[in-house]
Amino acid sequence: MNLLNRYRFRRLVDKSVRLGNRPMIMPIEELRLAVAFAELPCREEVVTNLIGELFDHQNMHVRRIAVIACRKSGAFGVPGLKEALTRKLADPEGWVRYDAAWAILEAKYDSSEIRACLAALADGISLPADRERVRRNLGDADLQAKVRARETLDALLAPRTILASLGISLETISERELALYPESTELVVAEIGENGREHLLVPAAAAAWGALRDTAKGDGVVIRIVSAFRSVERQAEIVRAKLARGQSLDEILRVSAPPGYSEHHSGRALDVTTDGARPLELEFEHTAAFQWLERNAGRFGFHMSYPRQNRYGYMYEPWHWCFRGEGSDHA
Ligand SMILES: [Zn+2]
Repeated sequence: MNLLNRYRFRRLVDKSVRLGNRPMIMPIEELRLAVAFAELPCREEVVTNLIGELFDHQNMHVRRIAVIACRKSGAFGVPGLKEALTRKLADPEGWVRYDAAWAILEAKYDSSEIRACLAALADGISLPADRERVRRNLGDADLQAKVRARETLDALLAPRTILASLGISLETISERELALYPESTELVVAEIGENGREHLLVPAAAAAWGALRDTAKGDGVVIRIVSAFRSVERQAEIVRAKLARGQSLDEILRVSAPPGYSEHHSGRALDVTTDGARPLELEFEHTAAFQWLERNAGRFGFHMSYPRQNRYGYMYEPWHWCFRGEGSDHA
């Protein structure tokens, strides 16, 4: 960290401590400071310092800001973060436990220790009944933490149960190096299909998609969503239906992701089509819409996930694009 960034970091620490010592605090103020930490350059060092300096701070608001900042930074590969967040699942303050469970969910962390800690925290909670209860008691930090822990644990466990029921082995998953995509919990309507179907995405992806679609339209190119967010259960239904039609698992998994492993669960992926092309067919590659996307989608943060010969063993999918953040040009 250079001198300027160290100075900025120190200022944010001071602000956090001052905020933490105030008698009345709005959650938005904690969030603002957390985002400010997460937006500092050299995110890895920032996360390391947050763990070292603030994760065990005596003031719970300061601890909370630090945990949220780590989640917002997205720097989940930082050594020690996984262990530090696991430890925070047992923080004395409910909101800190809640934020730790949320960060673990987003980071897709998994270990036997994490499962044990989540199970202890979520003891006695069942969904969706307790999610309803939490909506009526939004200020109940302990309950919020328990429900978030249950959601996180379910996200870790559910795919395995479903995979087993479909006969998909964990070896298949690890051989293809498929990544687990927890279902997003923050979704908004990105577009309404002609049949009235609501296509859902996370807010950042929905905003970027709207800008992309309108810019394409300005260039005389129509691009529409065929499918956006999909739940793990819906993905399981799709695979189940194909099995029932007599397709082999090998065949199915060349085209469909195993439940739990579809980018569509993340609320950042979309399948698109255009006028005059049948949806989800290779002919999409020869449309003006596809050429426009190839030239311009990257500017809006969208990338084609499964080009020809992709390393995940999926068939070429020119229609499948995923939002990885504004101006991101990595593949
Ligand atoms: Zn897709």
